[in-house]
Formats: sequence, structure tokens, C-alpha cells
Amino acid sequence: MNTTPQSVSTIAGMRSLVAAARETGGRVAFVPTMGALHEGHLALVRRARKRADLVVVSIFVNPLQFGPAEDLERYPRTPEADVAVLTSLGVEVVFAPTVEEVYPDGPVPTRVTAGAIGGMFEGRSRPGHFDGMLTVVTKLLNIVQPDIAVFGQKDAQQLFLVRRLVRDLNLPIEILAVPTEREPDGLALSSRNRFLGPAERVAARVLSVALAAASASAERGVDAVVAAAQSAIMGEALVKLDYLAIVDEQTFIPVSDDFRGAALVLIAARVGTTRLIDNAPIFFA
Ligand code: AMP
Repeated sequence: MNTTPQSVSTIAGMRSLVAAARETGGRVAFVPTMGALHEGHLALVRRARKRADLVVVSIFVNPLQFGPAEDLERYPRTPEADVAVLTSLGVEVVFAPTVEEVYPDGPVPTRVTAGAIGGMFEGRSRPGHFDGMLTVVTKLLNIVQPDIAVFGQKDAQQLFLVRRLVRDLNLPIEILAVPTEREPDGLALSSRNRFLGPAERVAARVLSVALAAASASAERGVDAVVAAAQSAIMGEALVKLDYLAIVDEQTFIPVSDDFRGAALVLIAARVGTTRLIDNAPIFFA
């Protein structure tokens, strides 16, 4: 039987717990989340569990990374279920601060900026999102001071920017990336999937179908990959494509038609009022 994780809501409390773990030489792994946990988050937690003595999961819906017209209020919150599932995975600490604890003086004027990549793809649709995300990730990493932090490949642009944050600002933390967990029909797990109506849920499958079509066309080159993915999406009337792009895995910059090497196919689409993203690696030989 696992014991219920210690629930910490203050920065001081979090710091003293981690300091105590360090005194006994324990390795600390950190999984930042916005709660409403699903199997995708749990894959991250399991990975953290394997690598550390103390696993800290944060649950914090960060207002700084939501635009004025976005779904901050509507974002799902399921704290009791989250703690129950984290108990079953043997997590030691749940760090769930209030907005006032993290931003006592309101939105912080000091920001970590994502640069040009932060204005592309997700950043184009969600201005300021990545600066808000990088700022809270920096704060959380400074509060928890983990050896390892775990992120999902589901949010490929976020993962790219977090890796760059750690490199650019010399943060002494290892970033671990975990592959995307999917429903049996291919839909990537997301806290937002619960907003899909029955017909939308069926239609949403087309994002992963488009990624599969893209990957099946890899040997015919970049243009063929884009065309294959686009035609899959266009066959589904309930799904409105926001962007489809092939980016160099190393730089996150869109590739040229004659690109060779490792890339990522990125898709974002609206299914009704719900915006979904997905991605898959692709290799151009
Ligand atoms: P969120 O709570 O949506 O901010 O996500 C917290 C972490 O879980 C991020 O690192 C996400 O990339 C990761 N994540 C979300 N969905 C999935 C998924 N389906 N598979 C793997 N990781 C995921």
C-alpha cells in the first residue's frame, strides 16, 4: 500500500522538503503538470519514479500562459482524483500552490522569453504562451531544484523550448522526454479531450491518422508528406486545421523541400471549440 503523497502548497514548505531529501543524498525528479491527470501524465510520473528517490509532481494552472480569450477558467480541475492516482504511483510530494503563492504581486514583470521560435506554431496561435510557460517552468525549477525534470513529447514545441532554456541559462537539470500516450484509436491523450462531443471525439482521430499518412509518405519527400497529411485532415468536416508543419528536430525551423534527416510533423486543429495538437517524428533519408 502506498501512502498518500505529502501535499505542499507553499514555496517555503517545498524548499524545506527537498532540502531534507538532499541531506540524505536522495535524487529528486520533478514532473510539472496543470492537473486533470491522465495516462499521459502518469507515463511521465512512472519514468520519474524509476530515476529518483523523491518524486515531486506539481499541479498548477499557470495564468501567465493563457491568453485573455483562452480557456483558463474552463481548464479542467480534478484535485481529489489527481492525488488518488499519484498515491497509487508512489509519489512522495504533490506541490499545488495557489496563484497568489506563485505570483504574490500579480503577473511578474520579469519574464523568460522564448525568442523567435516562441512566436511560431503554438506561439502564433497563442501570443505570449511560451514566455508564460518558460517563466513558470523557471520558477518551478528554482523552487523544486530537481536533478531531473520530465516533460512529454506531446507538447513538442514546449519540450524544445524547455531544453533550450536549460541549455541557454545553464540550469543544472537533466530533461527527460517521454513519448506520447494515445487512446486505442490513436488520439493523443489530453486534458482537453473531455470537451469533445461524441461526434467530435470520433473526428478528432484524424489528427493521428494524418500523422500516420505523413509518415507513410516520408520516402517521397517533404512536399508529399505535407500533401498526405493535409488531405487526411480535409476529409474530416468537423476538424479545422490551424497549422501543419514539418520542422527540423534540432532547430524547430520549417524544413526545405530537399531536407534530409530527423524532423517532426506538427499538427494543430480545432474540433468544434476544442483546440488539439499532436506531432510525430519523421525521418527523410
Ligand atoms: P499539462 O498538464 O497539459 O501541462 O501537461 C503536463 C506534462 O504532461 C507536459 O510535459 C506534457 O507534454 C505531458 N503530456 C500531456 N499529454 C501527454 C500525453 N498524451 N503523453 C505524454 N505526455 C503528455
